[in-house]
Amino acid sequence: MTRNAPEHYQLVPTRLQEQLEDGTTRCNLCPWRCRLRHGQRGFCQAHVNRGGVLYNLSYGIVSSIDIGAIEDKPVRHFAPGTQVMSIGSYGCSFRCTGCHNLEISWGEAELDRLARGQSRQAYVRPEAIVDAAERHGCQGIAFTYSEPVVWMEYVLDVCEAAHERGLYTVYVSNSFVTRQALDCLAGHVDVLCSDIKSMEDAFYRGICGKAGVADVLDSLEYAARLGFHVETRTNIIPTRNDGLDNIAQAAAWIRDHLGAESPWHLTRFFPAYKLSHLPPTPVDLLHRAEQVARDAGLSNVYVYADQGCDCASENLPVAAYLDDDPHAVDAVKRCSASCCGDEGVLLRKYEEGRA
Ligand code: SF4
Ligand code: SF4
Repeated sequence: MTRNAPEHYQLVPTRLQEQLEDGTTRCNLCPWRCRLRHGQRGFCQAHVNRGGVLYNLSYGIVSSIDIGAIEDKPVRHFAPGTQVMSIGSYGCSFRCTGCHNLEISWGEAELDRLARGQSRQAYVRPEAIVDAAERHGCQGIAFTYSEPVVWMEYVLDVCEAAHERGLYTVYVSNSFVTRQALDCLAGHVDVLCSDIKSMEDAFYRGICGKAGVADVLDSLEYAARLGFHVETRTNIIPTRNDGLDNIAQAAAWIRDHLGAESPWHLTRFFPAYKLSHLPPTPVDLLHRAEQVARDAGLSNVYVYADQGCDCASENLPVAAYLDDDPHAVDAVKRCSASCCGDEGVLLRKYEEGRA
């Protein structure tokens, strides 16, 4: 049985938090390091300050489930030929202009409903995810669709339950993650499949005001040092990160910091959101990028002409994978803990009038 996993939906204390002298409480899960006062939520919207303590709003709230080959994450050098159950929640530390998962990755509407005690999204205990994965013949569980660090409290509990039952775990990341968070995840996450979106700070600033290339690369290198099996991915977007010098720089960095045999996946951009006006990546460009990477010395470069981001747009409803009572899955989710004295309705005092 997973330690401390609540039977019903409730707020769970944020794993990495620090009370500061100015009265704010800082979340140290990702480099945003949001400093929050009572009633405020972080950039990802998934953490809230209640009376000086930060809580994760999205613990166990599963937005999407899918099953497929581990190669589709994409991961090629770990447990090849096995099936993995992918899960995701709401909230992300980035705001990518070409994101295919907007409703769930940013997830603000659903996180607002959770804050108001009005959400009907599925709450799934960690053991129930592992049960579902086993029932569907999966050998692993992947956290994906948005940056998993924003619900790390749940990720850790699912990893623990998965390892107890002999399943592996995969973490699909933007690597905008603090070293402290990686320290917590080490030994629980087997595989880190991370984006290197660009080697230019300007690209990262355009999707996250606080992010730079160095943050991402430091996190990746640190994860490799901690013993995660690391594979990297770049979604090549026409006119945004498709310069061959950018590709060559990324390849050289992977070679020098992760090793010449470290797998690198080059995926195809498909138009979405604010980048809907751009064409899909020409396939010959993907192959030119592959050649540049091989010339730089990388021996395991994979090109995907038919695959872009790890999206959740066509998944079955979450309840279709669960063995739970469908009424319970669809029931309104209110925090079941009584510690706040608000009858379990988070932020009622602060948000009721603004619904
Ligand atoms: S996980 Fe969310 S609340 Fe925590 S620092 Fe990152 S954006 Fe802020
Ligand atoms: S593309 Fe990934 S990192 Fe970017 S906003 Fe979407 S889910 Fe978040």
